[in-house]
Amino acid sequence: MPDSATANSRSSSLLAGLGWLEHAFLPAGAAPPDNSAFAHQRHSAAVVLDEQAVPAKSCDADGVIGVTTRPVAIYTADCLPVLIADDRMHHVAAVHAGLKGALAGVLFSAIDRLLALGARTDSLHFAIGPAIGPCCYELGHEVLDEMQNNALLRQTPTWQQQQPRNSRALRPQAEAHTQGIWFDLPGLARQMLHQRGIPAAQIEILEVCTYCMAEPHASYRRNTHFRDGYAARYSWIQRCN
Ligand SMILES: [Zn+2]
Repeated sequence: MPDSATANSRSSSLLAGLGWLEHAFLPAGAAPPDNSAFAHQRHSAAVVLDEQAVPAKSCDADGVIGVTTRPVAIYTADCLPVLIADDRMHHVAAVHAGLKGALAGVLFSAIDRLLALGARTDSLHFAIGPAIGPCCYELGHEVLDEMQNNALLRQTPTWQQQQPRNSRALRPQAEAHTQGIWFDLPGLARQMLHQRGIPAAQIEILEVCTYCMAEPHASYRRNTHFRDGYAARYSWIQRCN
């Protein structure tokens, strides 16, 4: 891996603290480990086991569960990468949870599969990686209506009428384009995890906005505004033994 990629790689202290796994939220353009299992992503709720996603992209799914020592990965731009570790069975998972996939239930699918494999809600740990933040994620009002009618959500997610200022932004935040609302995608994931009984202490949100904080070329949405290019960012996790 080039030095710049290593320097911009991010990790979760919650997951690292478990001690039996390796993981990384890689920067845009850096390749995942050679033998990683990852699927062809469709913004669906489909989750597969690692060996079903070998060779890479040989099946369609938005979550890959690692039951062997093979790394499992997902690729994102502004969507949410969620890495999961089950401290009871030492299983891991990488989940691609954009708004569409989250609303389709991909996080619930991954949790259900891990529970079926022996996890308990008190053994599952989650790291929510770099994604477009509430500072830059403008959505149209019609999406809110859709969420209000989503049978999977026990509560309507929170959103803001005014664009939040991000004091840690490294470049200008997204400008308002649609007179819409400002939405917290990592917050939606956290809400959905709470809904399934996962306590706050088992969830870490990295709070890195791909639009205004991450390395250049990390944001698909920024590229639609400025045409300055973007590259996929991989997030991976692997049980060590
Ligand atoms: Zn931002």
